[in-house]
Amino acid sequence: MPAKYSPFEGALKQFEKAANALKLEPHIADILKKHQKVITVNIPVKMDDGSVKVFTGYRAQHNNFRGPYKGGIRYHPDVNLDEVLALSMWMTWKCAVVDIPFGGGKGGISCPVKYMSVAEKERMTRKYVQMIAKDIGPELDIPAPDVYTDSQTMAWIFDEYSKIVGYPAYGVVTGKPIELGGSLGRTQATGYGVAACVREAVKLFNKDIKETTVAIQGFGNVAYYAAEKLYKWGAKVVAISDSQGGIYDKEGFDPIDVMEYKQKTGTVVGYKEVKKISNEALLISECDVLVPAALEDQITSTNAPQVKAKIIVEGANGPTTPEADEILFKKGVYIVPDILANAGGVTVSYFEWVQNFQKFQWDEQTVLNKMEEKLVKAFKDVNATAKKYNVDNRTAALMLAIKRVADAYKLKGDY
Ligand code: NAD
Repeated sequence: MPAKYSPFEGALKQFEKAANALKLEPHIADILKKHQKVITVNIPVKMDDGSVKVFTGYRAQHNNFRGPYKGGIRYHPDVNLDEVLALSMWMTWKCAVVDIPFGGGKGGISCPVKYMSVAEKERMTRKYVQMIAKDIGPELDIPAPDVYTDSQTMAWIFDEYSKIVGYPAYGVVTGKPIELGGSLGRTQATGYGVAACVREAVKLFNKDIKETTVAIQGFGNVAYYAAEKLYKWGAKVVAISDSQGGIYDKEGFDPIDVMEYKQKTGTVVGYKEVKKISNEALLISECDVLVPAALEDQITSTNAPQVKAKIIVEGANGPTTPEADEILFKKGVYIVPDILANAGGVTVSYFEWVQNFQKFQWDEQTVLNKMEEKLVKAFKDVNATAKKYNVDNRTAALMLAIKRVADAYKLKGDY
């Protein structure tokens, strides 16, 4: 049986490649590849039938040299320590690459979330907060939604934490409902950031966005808003998919119309009887730009040689395997890596936190404009780093991020 893939081992390999290219001092590399604190809690939860079940939860705090730990909380039966360690390390680099003053953290609870009632999830969330309350806080560690957690979960965390500290601590989580200090623009942020990365990458190829064809895997939050913005800018969105399959039309789709169809039928498949394609076929379809915005491990050593897109913008986290990465780099495909391409979400989370401290709500356009400004600047920084060191964009993004975290450490000094 092949050994189980370890996301944390993968994260360490990426780190080492970038740290070597940066010629990072060995003791600093040693500090940065280790987590500052990792918390494991066993949470007894009273279930609706009166029984008590114990679920294991984690909060991994990778690094806070540039600011409080920041990262989502995931509820899923597969949540495990290795995954949480990897995700928290990637959060450190993601925040550093877009230059927001946060470090990296991630949490999760291994639980059968799909089979739990709202009341069970609420009790579990509140107990989890009680058990990690000393280790989170607006200036310490700021969770956010992730897989199977949402603005309601954040409202419970905000409420429970506020009860413990005795005042309304709005800055303790982001991704809150607007009524409880959430930010306008958060819903669209990640997808719009992906679209901005597509536009910037296309410019490097001296192409007009209006002459660009884009294939998008997925049609959830990230994929939909990326598609909607690109369509608005005049790009042709030629392929879209969901878990049931995809659709392709070389004339392009209107994503708003496709979403209306999906909301009625539950899938994009069957839309106006256009050509149906599989998700595998979408990845190697005829297009200028490919945006994987659904799941991890989609572009592999098997399909990478057949990818026709000249540009890949990673909306999803980890859609390209390391083997595929090498194949695509050799083929000259321009990849905008996940830690840059989907950082619009965490950037607006940062703006939410700032608004909570200011006790002032920014309008939606201000939020989205400031997000785009940050992302475009990061895009240009990564591109310049890749050229300077003659490395792929993923390594360049990591180099930029690692250097920023290392510089913060050096300024504080060894003692
Ligand atoms: P989502 O749940 O809203 O959408 C996921 C989409 O993937 C759905 O359209 C679903 O039908 C589709 N899908 C599921 N299985 C599929 C399959 N086998 N083939 C093709 N499509 C399939 O999720 P989301 O928030 O859009 O997140 C998508 C990705 O982006 C994830 O990797 C997530 O970690 C990453 N991400 C999201 C955000 C955010 O702000 N939402 C931020 C950063 C990264």
